[in-house]
Amino acid sequence: MRVVMRDDATLKQIGQVITLIENKGYQPFVVKDDKVTTICVPSIQDEKLFDEVMQIQGVKEALPFSKPYRLVSREFNASDTVIDVGDVPVGGKEIVLMAGPCAVESKEQLFTTAESVKKAGAKILRGGAFKPRTSPYSFQGLKEEGLKLLREAGREFDLKIVTEIVSPGDVELIAGYADILQVGARNMQNFSLLEQLGKIAKPVLLKRGMMCTIEEMLMSAEYIAAGGNPNVILCERGIRTFERHMRNTLDISAVPALKELSHLPIIVDPSHASGNDRYVPALALAGIAAGADGLIIEVHSCREEALCDGKQSLEPETFAALVEQLKRVAAAVNRKL
Ligand code: PEP
Ligand code: MN
Repeated sequence: MRVVMRDDATLKQIGQVITLIENKGYQPFVVKDDKVTTICVPSIQDEKLFDEVMQIQGVKEALPFSKPYRLVSREFNASDTVIDVGDVPVGGKEIVLMAGPCAVESKEQLFTTAESVKKAGAKILRGGAFKPRTSPYSFQGLKEEGLKLLREAGREFDLKIVTEIVSPGDVELIAGYADILQVGARNMQNFSLLEQLGKIAKPVLLKRGMMCTIEEMLMSAEYIAAGGNPNVILCERGIRTFERHMRNTLDISAVPALKELSHLPIIVDPSHASGNDRYVPALALAGIAAGADGLIIEVHSCREEALCDGKQSLEPETFAALVEQLKRVAAAVNRKL
C-alpha cells in the first residue's frame, strides 16, 4: 500500500498515518520529494487499512502497488534517486566512471592502473578481491590482502572503491574496506546475500543476472531496499542469448526500461557484456546515449598478463581516449562528464 499525502498535509497528519501503520505492526517507508510525501508499506495490500488511512485529514489517496517491486519503483518515488558514494554522487547530472582491473593481482598492477584511470577521469576504482570463477582452478583473488590494496590505492589516488562480495558472511569484512559492495551476476538471486546487504547502509552495486529478467532484477533490488538499505545502483552487464559472437548480449533497452520503472541509478558494464576490448568503446558510448548514469569498465595496465578477463580489458590509453568520446556523447544527452 502507498499513501500519498496532499501537498498541504501537516507534519502532524503525516505522523498520524505513520503511527496508525506502526500500531498495526508494519514498518512504514517514507519518501518526500519537493512537495509530496508518500508513505509506503510494501508488504501489505490490506483493504481495511486503506479505509482507516483515508479517514486521516491530509491524505490524498491510498493505493495498491501495481507491480511486485515497490520501494524501488517509480510509484513509490517519482524522482531520480541520487546515491552519494562519499563525495561522488551516482545518479545525478554527472556521469560516473568506475574503472580498474577485473581482479586485484599485485600492488604494482593495481596502483599503475588506478593512477591511469584517475588521470583519465574515473572517480571509482574497481577490482575484485573475492573472485567468483567458473573454474575452481582459476585465480580466486587475493581476498583480504586484495581489499587492503584497494583501500591503499583509493587513498593514494583519491578514488572510491567498488569490489565484489560473494559470501553473505563477508559483509562486515568487505564493508570495512569498500565504498560500494558489488553483487555479481552469478549472485543476483542469492537471497541470503541480498538480505545481509539490506542491513548495512553502504551502497550496493547490483549486477543483472545473465539469465534474469528486468523484473527479477528489480525484485532483487527490492530485497535490499526492504531490508532497510535504499542505496542500490543497478547494473546492466549483458545477458545470455543465442548469439555467441560476444560473451553476452548487452541489453541496451534495459537502460530506458529500468529508468522508467525504477528511480534507482543504472550503470552499464560494457566489458562483461562484450568480453572483447574491441567492442567495449562502442557499447560504453551506447550505454550513455541510452541514458545510463555511469559505466563500470575493466582496465589493466598490462592486459596480456592479466590473471582474469585480460581479453576484455582496455589499455589505459584506450580508456583515456574513450573518456574523451564519452564526454561528447554525455553533452549530447544533456549530461556532464
Ligand atoms: C566482475 O565485475 O568482475 C564480474 C565478475 O562481473 P559479472 O558478475 O557481471 O560477471
Ligand atoms: Mn571481470
